[in-house]
Amino acid sequence: MIDFTAFINSLKGTQLEDWCDTLPQQLADNFNTRRYGDLPGWLDALAQLPEVTTDQIELKDRVALTSSERLPEASLKLIDQSLRALIPWRKGPYQVHDSFIDTEWRSDWKWDRVLPHLDKLNNRTILDVGCGNGYHCWRMLGEGAQRVIGIDPSPRFIVQFNMIKHFIGEAPVDVLPLGIEDLPADLQAFDTTFSMGVLYHRRSPMDHLRELKATLRPGGQLVLETLVIEGKLGEVLVPEGRYAKMNNVWFLPSCDTLVSWMRKCGFKNPRVVDINTTTTEEQRATEWMTYHSLAEFLDPNDSSRTAEGHPAPVRAVIVAEAG
Ligand code: SAH
Repeated sequence: MIDFTAFINSLKGTQLEDWCDTLPQQLADNFNTRRYGDLPGWLDALAQLPEVTTDQIELKDRVALTSSERLPEASLKLIDQSLRALIPWRKGPYQVHDSFIDTEWRSDWKWDRVLPHLDKLNNRTILDVGCGNGYHCWRMLGEGAQRVIGIDPSPRFIVQFNMIKHFIGEAPVDVLPLGIEDLPADLQAFDTTFSMGVLYHRRSPMDHLRELKATLRPGGQLVLETLVIEGKLGEVLVPEGRYAKMNNVWFLPSCDTLVSWMRKCGFKNPRVVDINTTTTEEQRATEWMTYHSLAEFLDPNDSSRTAEGHPAPVRAVIVAEAG
């Protein structure tokens, strides 16, 4: 099992203290080995990771966890085997001693597009909603964040996060097996909240925006990254079937539409700071994610269209403040 006691204790005496009442039960319910067939095997792989010295930890420019003295071959082999037991790895990349986890996504490219537009992250308390295996949470710590809490309902990603944390050791970064709907209403505790790659998976985007706003202290900053379409104010694509072979895609607004939704939900000064067409260099199959990826999700004869004929994925970053 993953022990969240230290995390819960760290909330005592902070703005998040009230959460301690409900959190232990939620964590126990959501991270239940009976619900997820593979979880015991993943936890076993996590437990197999050897105790080794990792004295070179880079988080600012990349996530690289290495040591000044070469580890014994047997340890390197065990690390590689254990990490591979958690394939597919989608978000990264990570250098872990000799193992380079070449993930499906170049999440570092997204970070490079987002970071220049944000209020400085140093000393901030940060929430990353739908953080996957926590790649960006580590990059936030690399920027000097005081505390980072990621939430993601997928147990595979929680185990992957803890594999990385095994090498980093004590750090004010945790990823919890929760969805945004599991957060207490009106936390108003975070200086910065990220929601990247989540909004289009939500059936009710307005509710998602309101839930995000409720996590922020007054004046706190929201960083929203989501799929958008080209189009005027009021235009939205709601794909009836799949979108790029994903069956859980609901609302793809134009940028102007999304900005107006954010204003309606009470955000101040929402502004589009980046628009980017996803390439097959940024999202692709690798040795660490061997299933289909973006190349197979697009029309083979026209890369400006998805396999279903919708506009190909374009992602926008919007920044705004809670009033
Ligand atoms: N933020 C990361 C990962 C995006 S993938 C990035 O930008 O690279 C979207 C993630 O949202 C998945 O890991 C999925 O498990 C998570 N997710 C799905 N439903 C969610 C919910 N209700 N609350 C929080 N996260 C959710």
